[in-house]
Amino acid sequence: MITDADISLLTDFVPDLSASGEVRIVVEDIEHRDGSRALVRKLSQGRPFSPTTTLWLDLATQPVSDWRAFRRTWEAVVANLDEYLPRPAALGVSGSALLLPGNTAGHLSAEFLAALMPKWARQRWVGLPVDPACAEYYLASLHTIGLRSLRPLEAFSRLGFRIQGEISNAQWSRAEEAGLLDALPGHTKQQRLASFLAFFPEVDRLRVQTQSGVHTLRRTTASSRVRRSTALSLPASRSRRPPASRGTRSSAVWLDSGTEGVFADLERIELLMVVSGHKAVMRTSVRPERWPRLRAFLDRHGLAWASQANTARYLLDRGKGGWSNLLDDTSGKRPGRQELFVYVAREQRLADQLLALEGSDDDAFGALLGYPQCCRLAFKRMFPVALRHQGDLIPVVADQTPGPQPWSFLLNIVSRYFGTALLSFYPCSFSCTVARGLASTAFAEIAQVAPNDASAIRSLLSAPCLYTEYQGIYAFPDATWDDGFLRYYDVLMTTRNRIGAALREGSHLNVAHDGRLEISNRGRSVGTIGGANVRLMVFAAEESGG
Ligand SMILES: [Zn+2]
Repeated sequence: MITDADISLLTDFVPDLSASGEVRIVVEDIEHRDGSRALVRKLSQGRPFSPTTTLWLDLATQPVSDWRAFRRTWEAVVANLDEYLPRPAALGVSGSALLLPGNTAGHLSAEFLAALMPKWARQRWVGLPVDPACAEYYLASLHTIGLRSLRPLEAFSRLGFRIQGEISNAQWSRAEEAGLLDALPGHTKQQRLASFLAFFPEVDRLRVQTQSGVHTLRRTTASSRVRRSTALSLPASRSRRPPASRGTRSSAVWLDSGTEGVFADLERIELLMVVSGHKAVMRTSVRPERWPRLRAFLDRHGLAWASQANTARYLLDRGKGGWSNLLDDTSGKRPGRQELFVYVAREQRLADQLLALEGSDDDAFGALLGYPQCCRLAFKRMFPVALRHQGDLIPVVADQTPGPQPWSFLLNIVSRYFGTALLSFYPCSFSCTVARGLASTAFAEIAQVAPNDASAIRSLLSAPCLYTEYQGIYAFPDATWDDGFLRYYDVLMTTRNRIGAALREGSHLNVAHDGRLEISNRGRSVGTIGGANVRLMVFAAEESGG
């Protein structure tokens, strides 16, 4: 238990009088549809803010799996603040979701939160639990910012957030009972509390709940020799120049693989990355009847390979034109359906290494395939969310993308439903700088060996896409995006249905207030699209904001 006496003995912290005017809104259910409306009602009952107020959104111990719902609530609160003058000086979000590692469903990322902060907020704050039971989380470097993997407090500091450590009486009592404080240096409880806090030089303030109420303390200037990180500058992602001699080999592989039809377009791009030295190894799955031709192709081009039986097959999703992200474990046991996994590399040892990792170590497997760490972590946290439907991560990736559309065509993976994509994995977001670097390298390689193919790929990938979970996926080549309206001329689709017919009749798409999509032609409505996971994603050939 933490008492008033305990905190009065903390020498590094003194009472923070500026905290008296803080407004704290507790969000009971962040994923609930009406959550934002209830919040706005609560806000309007509150008193106007003083120019020093911090407004807190308190998520408590809720995980945040639906980042779109979080964004909606946050934007509703921020929009509502426009009615208050003066506005609060600072905005803060508090909750254990901010501390959860990046590979865990419920984690809310520092980059995503930073992108949601309005410019007028003079300070941005996060409130993180200070609890010995969370020791594992403080130490895990699983918060990613670009290429860097950081500990949570470090990640928030680097993005300009100030950090409030939040101590609850109940948590500390539990930690005390569990003996978690015994390992900390110090003879008394106060000394142990002080030594625990010394682990967090990033903490600017403490919010402590004792039996008498809530106290806010700030770090004294003497103890705040804390290195305050300046804005993080990301290393520019630069493609490695392939050795000149690889040029002929790359172009032979690209051309032959296209004319012989042994690889699908998606795989041809991966193969080109392997041959040009940008990727160590790739994996493909082949039916037995296709294998002899593929094998002859690899041997002829001097590529190393390893193979083993694939005991599972992909399921067929509804409305996805034959795609799925889920495997059917029982299919391999049926006679005549056995496929092969084939691992292709420039060096035999790499093909063998990937084969050995198959099914045993997913993270090492993804790393050897060249998938960025941020994207591998995100896959682990997003997959359980995607499993609520058909296991397709695209809507979750869209929801977790900070920053506005249009997104760069380089990261368009929805285009794989229409035959091609520059990435063979799910990026952590449609603005991931690391994945974008890889896609840009792949695009440059294609442009070098086959400029016409590159421009065809660019125009397909620049098409805005409409994703629905069960009613088909659509792409709109040459469409234009203007002020919330998509003007389109042509529609590609994975399935034939009523939506496809309405889209053919229409010329414009826009998102209505209720979240459904409206299809119209010259201002006349020709249909609406609702249902599970409807997302309109705008990709563009010209990058937005670089
Ligand atoms: Zn990423």
